[in-house]
Amino acid sequence: MVSFEEARKIILSSVSVVGSERIHLLDATGRVLAEDVAAPWDMPLWDNSAMDGYAVNSADCGVVPCKLRVSAFLPAGALAEGVRVGQGCAVKIMTGAPTPEGCDAVVPVEETDNGDREVTLRNPVKKGQHIRVRGEDVQAGVAFARAGTIIRPPEVNMLSGFGMALVPVYRRPTVAILSTGDELVELGTTPGPGEIVNSNALALATAVREVGAIPLIIGIARDTRASHLEKLREGLKADVLITSAGVSAGDRDLVREVLEELGARQLFWKVGIRPGGPTAFALHGTTPVFSLPGNPVSTMITFEEFVRPALLKMQGHLRVLRPLFRVVLREELRKKPGTVQIARIRLEREDGRWYAAPAGNQQTSILRTMVDAEAFAVLPADSSSFAAGDEVDAHLYGNHIDLLEATP
Ligand code: AMP
Ligand code: MG
Repeated sequence: MVSFEEARKIILSSVSVVGSERIHLLDATGRVLAEDVAAPWDMPLWDNSAMDGYAVNSADCGVVPCKLRVSAFLPAGALAEGVRVGQGCAVKIMTGAPTPEGCDAVVPVEETDNGDREVTLRNPVKKGQHIRVRGEDVQAGVAFARAGTIIRPPEVNMLSGFGMALVPVYRRPTVAILSTGDELVELGTTPGPGEIVNSNALALATAVREVGAIPLIIGIARDTRASHLEKLREGLKADVLITSAGVSAGDRDLVREVLEELGARQLFWKVGIRPGGPTAFALHGTTPVFSLPGNPVSTMITFEEFVRPALLKMQGHLRVLRPLFRVVLREELRKKPGTVQIARIRLEREDGRWYAAPAGNQQTSILRTMVDAEAFAVLPADSSSFAAGDEVDAHLYGNHIDLLEATP
């Protein structure tokens, strides 16, 4: 048995990115840049006005109020070539328009009488005011985004501002999902006596997709060696293989045995975590194989704690663990010493602190509690009981949950 922390360390040191590709910017949200990207030109590309107003020479405006002749008009998109701010003159200018020769300040229209032929400035003018200087945002050649950066709207804005339609991002790994067990029937079939729906396959596919990778549901291996051989072989063609069930110590638990027969090297079996203790991890060549326990709660918790960080790392993410924050327990909790316990909780905000209320019955067999959980409390291995009022670490569960206050 390995500890929770050791298991993560082994997994994360066994996986790496699966290559890169160039994709259109519009498809790149949430993907990770695979190369540093340098600015091809200065941003902004020319000095320009930060305000609608008048381009002036500050030396002409020493005494206010001051009256200037309006000699030209520069709307956004105009060219400043041939336009000059002559002595005693101002050029009417709109936000974003290039500042003309002889201009060292822009006076906002609100500080003038908005004249068309003549303009009166009311306030003193400071040299350089309201001018955006060429390259002040990003200078040509400077890497404004590095490999490992997640592409969000700001990155899209900057990349497209530089005319980059295609961006280099890390590939999304394909993830084969294999369920095992004679009791399973596929979704769409009403389960008969002794049968259950292969719901893990759909939950795992959803979780894989949520984290940005590509799920491939490859069906069910029946509890025979031949069926396991066939389906595991198929699964090993993907970048990652996840199996569910058949990994405990039962008579029909064939996954680990057949994986070994196929040449996979087991790096651990059994982890100090509850739910999810029987989890195994192996490498087949460089292909990671996660063998998760079949109980749906265990399957999803071990996916969250072990598979998710690995899939994030394989897609180039630099931060792969959810941030932990402290929560105050509403109720006492007991656990087995020696294992990390994942408690399914709901979050409540009170007096500036986050409180953890149990999401329901914490037994592994109760799937409903998973449905109601917003976050997981991570109860450390070395303790066995926690009182109401104790503080423990927690992290959010689910990509669509944030630390949001309830809407009044
Ligand atoms: P096992 O790990 O094979 O002992 O299975 C543990 C429990 O998980 C049993 O109650 C199984 O019926 C259930 N189970 C196994 N595979 C699945 C699956 N694909 N979907 C839903 N439940 C499953
Ligand atoms: Mg089974």
